[in-house]
Amino acid sequence: MNISKIKEQALKYLGYQGQSIDIQTEKLINECLDEINQIAHFKVVYQRYPLNHHPLRLHHISLEYDDLITLFQDCHEVIVIGCTLGVAFERTMKKLYLINMTKATIMDAIGSSYLEACCDEYEKTIIKEKRTFRFCPGYGRVPLSLNRELAQLLDCSKHIGLTIQNNDLLLPQKSMIGIIGLGQDKTKKSCHHCKQIEHCQFRKRGQRCYKTN
Ligand code: SF4
Repeated sequence: MNISKIKEQALKYLGYQGQSIDIQTEKLINECLDEINQIAHFKVVYQRYPLNHHPLRLHHISLEYDDLITLFQDCHEVIVIGCTLGVAFERTMKKLYLINMTKATIMDAIGSSYLEACCDEYEKTIIKEKRTFRFCPGYGRVPLSLNRELAQLLDCSKHIGLTIQNNDLLLPQKSMIGIIGLGQDKTKKSCHHCKQIEHCQFRKRGQRCYKTN
């Protein structure tokens, strides 16, 4: 696991854009990086499925959204992946928010970055062919409600303890469900279809929420 990459991405989530970090914040960041290995328990489940086009469909689930039609236009298979940092991380965050809001905010950003890094590393072990980036519902114009159908398909509740709340968000909160197209090299994300483009804080700071290199 590349700790400096996790730190770099977490700093981006915290709104840093290269400016120096004060000693107290640096200390808290390093503390969180030291502790995350003990409190986060990465769990993952995935399945490979054939993809049907016209209309775009995965198993019994419709994927007829412009973003996905474009992303998967030359893919005939996908991997659906679900992962989480688990309930211990969730409990720790709840406690931290009560006793140390600053550390909780930093741990939250490090948790997001750590989850992405764990998932990226895991994907390298299971995907050897050309692939698209991992597309998560809620990005672009693809509704969060797709999370529910994908979680049921993978039986995330049984395998990794990941459930979907009434508002279609994931629980534990540091969890992710994504779809990866296979057979097409499209690993670069863009802001083109993102719903947040008008008000995006990353873009206002000259950054992007995703890796650009
Ligand atoms: S940088 Fe902002 S506009 Fe671009 S994809 Fe991320 S959230 Fe959306």
